[in-house]
Amino acid sequence: MASGGGGYRHSSSGAPTRLSTKIDRQNSGAYATPKASAKSRIPASPSTGSGFRRSSSGPLPAQPRASADAGVPGRVRVAVRLRPRNSEELVADADFGDCVELQPELKRLKLRKNNWESETYEFDEVLTEFASQKRVYEVVAKPVVESVMEGYNGTVMAYGQTGTGKTFTLGRLGDEDTAARGIMVRAMEDILADVSLETDTVSVSYMQLYMETIQDLLDPANDNIAIVEDPKTGDVSLPAATLVDIRDQKSFVELLRVGEQHRFAANTKLNTESSRSHAILMVHVRKTVKGRQDMDMSFRGENGHHTSSHSLRPPVIRKSKLVVVDLAGSERIDKSGSEGHTLEEAKSINLSLSALGKCINALAENSPHVPVRDSKLTRLLRDSFGGTARTSLVVTIGPSPRHRGETASTIMFGQRAMKVENMVKLKEEFDYKSLCRRLDIELDKLIAENERQRKYFEDEVERLRVEAQKRIAEAEKSCKIALENEKTTLQQDYRDSIKKLEEKWKVNQQAIEKSRAEQESRKATKSDELLEVRNMLENEKNLRQSSQDEIIDLRNQVQHWKKLEESRGAEIVKLRKLLDTEASQKEKLEEEIAVLKSQLLQLSLEAEETRRSLDRGASGKIFPGLDSLMSQANRNSQLRDQTNGPKPPIAKLFEQVGLQKILSLLESEDADVRVHAVKVVANLAAEEANQEKIVEAGGLTSLLTLLRSSEDETIRRVAAGAIANLAMNETNQEMIMAQGGVSLLSMTASDAEDPQTLRMVAGAIANLCGNDKLQARLRGEGGIKALLGMVKCGHPDVLAQVARGIANFAKCESRAATQGNTMGRSLLIEDGSLPWIVKNANNEAAPIRRHIELALCHLAQHEVNAKEIINEGALWELVRISRDCSREDIRMLAYRTLTSSPTLQAEMRRLRIEC
Ligand code: ADP
Ligand code: MG
Repeated sequence: MASGGGGYRHSSSGAPTRLSTKIDRQNSGAYATPKASAKSRIPASPSTGSGFRRSSSGPLPAQPRASADAGVPGRVRVAVRLRPRNSEELVADADFGDCVELQPELKRLKLRKNNWESETYEFDEVLTEFASQKRVYEVVAKPVVESVMEGYNGTVMAYGQTGTGKTFTLGRLGDEDTAARGIMVRAMEDILADVSLETDTVSVSYMQLYMETIQDLLDPANDNIAIVEDPKTGDVSLPAATLVDIRDQKSFVELLRVGEQHRFAANTKLNTESSRSHAILMVHVRKTVKGRQDMDMSFRGENGHHTSSHSLRPPVIRKSKLVVVDLAGSERIDKSGSEGHTLEEAKSINLSLSALGKCINALAENSPHVPVRDSKLTRLLRDSFGGTARTSLVVTIGPSPRHRGETASTIMFGQRAMKVENMVKLKEEFDYKSLCRRLDIELDKLIAENERQRKYFEDEVERLRVEAQKRIAEAEKSCKIALENEKTTLQQDYRDSIKKLEEKWKVNQQAIEKSRAEQESRKATKSDELLEVRNMLENEKNLRQSSQDEIIDLRNQVQHWKKLEESRGAEIVKLRKLLDTEASQKEKLEEEIAVLKSQLLQLSLEAEETRRSLDRGASGKIFPGLDSLMSQANRNSQLRDQTNGPKPPIAKLFEQVGLQKILSLLESEDADVRVHAVKVVANLAAEEANQEKIVEAGGLTSLLTLLRSSEDETIRRVAAGAIANLAMNETNQEMIMAQGGVSLLSMTASDAEDPQTLRMVAGAIANLCGNDKLQARLRGEGGIKALLGMVKCGHPDVLAQVARGIANFAKCESRAATQGNTMGRSLLIEDGSLPWIVKNANNEAAPIRRHIELALCHLAQHEVNAKEIINEGALWELVRISRDCSREDIRMLAYRTLTSSPTLQAEMRRLRIEC
């Protein structure tokens, strides 16, 4: 502060403390909140030290202020409080008016000079004699406490003549009346409500400053505490002072009470009064800052640099202190020596107070030198007065006109402290607001009353609670006693009944003993008898066992005999059956012998008759003879099936009967005759030796006629079979063709229901297919189509014949091609046989497969067919045949065919098939 930069700020203007021109409500107006004032505070240079810690960039929002305000913020806030007349004054000054008149709504105080002249002063707050303690706290101290909770140092001081209410304002404990609590108690309440005891600490030291010596009010022995100032930060501390952690309001009040007692004792010892010393309460708050509200807060750290805000930084601890100073009476300055002290003593007593006044003057006059080091008080307040600290001064005055001079000097001190450059002294009166004043007074009364009532209510609640607890305790007690009584009577009952039961039990026990003894004696006599009976029983048992064994033996024997009998019975049955079959066989053989005998007889008779009629040369009745011949033939065939006997000499028979006659019977009216006749012809035709004769005799024509005209499928089947046999001969084949045999055979096939009919027809056509000369004609008359048409029936015998026919046809075609007969594509292919060929090329029936394999090879040998073979997928079959066919000749034929055809070769190369 020597450099003018101590804890105190300079006033922005060098104006005298009293101004008389005009009132600027905004500048001198209501207590600005610390937030508002901090925002616009003039930044201090770093060299100004501790007083300007965290000064220039507080987190506080801007508040619109007049331009002149730029120099004012942060200034000491000053309130004036008028004490009501005390009992003495009420009497002594009864005829006089107060020396001051307050206009609280205008925040003005009029100091009467005389009856017709007064001077008006403006303060930040004007508190009348009716102002409640609560209101005083709220306007004077609460903003400072709030700023302390935000991390700023703060000071609340009371200045005034002794007896005007400094201690009343600051130090009342309010034991008897809650509403009377002073600023210290209320400040601590607010602080404790705002801290979290887990993370924050609140500690307190309490001292008195007398004659430039600091004494510890919490430890009277500690009576000369040194002030330590940190040269770097300018922080002021009193390391030797007792520091007590405060965790609840009650202990704090207790601490204040103890401090007050110590103060009284110390002053008695020093032979002085409390009013001559300064009482200093220091509250240290260490607060952990949580959450984001401080994120934007960039303030100067202790090194003067900006601490950067970062979401991950460690928790911030804010240290701040609240200093509450109950100053010594202000009258000392002027009345030194009056109490019997030397001038030096008086000077010493008042040094701190006068130094405070000088500092305030220097600041108010914007002097370059502020004598902060002149006293302990100013040194102690260095970091808590002005600058970053919020300071509130309450000046207390009395109403008595007798102390007008003191009151005036107190008011002037307050005015200087405000450093109000635009202080206005008004001449005019402002009485019209008296109504408002009255209401204000009323309000304060009500506030005080409310506080009292609340306290009363809380006390009442507490009282009721205690009473209720008492009653509960009583009820519990009586309940307990009743329970106890109940328990004893029940226990007694229980014991009695147990006793009774025990007696009963004893009686019972004796009875039981008695009966048991009787039983014992009875048992002894019985045991001999029992032994005897037991032996008998044993004997009985043994006897029974042996007889049972015997029974089992006998049963086994019976079982054995039964089995023997059964096996014999089975043998008898077997033998009986054998005998039966032997008998029936014998019977059959005898029957057969009889039949044969009669046949022999009939034959010899017929032979006889025939010879005779031939001898006679007459054409007699032939039918019976033929009939018997046929029946004999049929019977013989039946017999042959059964006995595998030798074939009957049919050739001889027909020689005997005559072929012509047999053929003529084919046209017989009698259906049976026709059937027999055609069968005979078929049998004859099966032998090559007869074939020529049959054809010569017109048998072929007759057979074809039967195909055309007969409605009996058996006849047609047998006829077809005969034609097939005849068709083995090349001449016959031509004849069959010439007589339209192909179309007759096709017709027969399409009408057939029996697969055997189809087999005969297919066999006939297959034979025709093997004739080179007849190829074109055969195909022209639908022979191939007829063949392919028959595959529908699916009978393997039929399919085999069809396959044979196709193979024959293909062979002829290929033969014709090799003989140089130029011809087009195969007629087989033309008639659409290839798909069937491909489909059946791998038929599981060997005869079918072999014929088809051959047919394929023959077709493929002719180059004109190659393209169609490829298209229909027959190439794959050829390749397969060339690889897998079990018959070597066919395999070789397929291989040769594949290798000799350029077209097939090209295709195989394309498909990357090797053969
Ligand atoms: P000082 O500040 O000089 O120590 P005190 O606080 O001791 O003054 O007050 C002196 C007397 O005046 C005390 O009896 C006190 O109760 C009384 N007093 C002070 N101020 C008021 C007030 N505002 N209302 C009622 N009584 C008061
Ligand atoms: Mg006092």
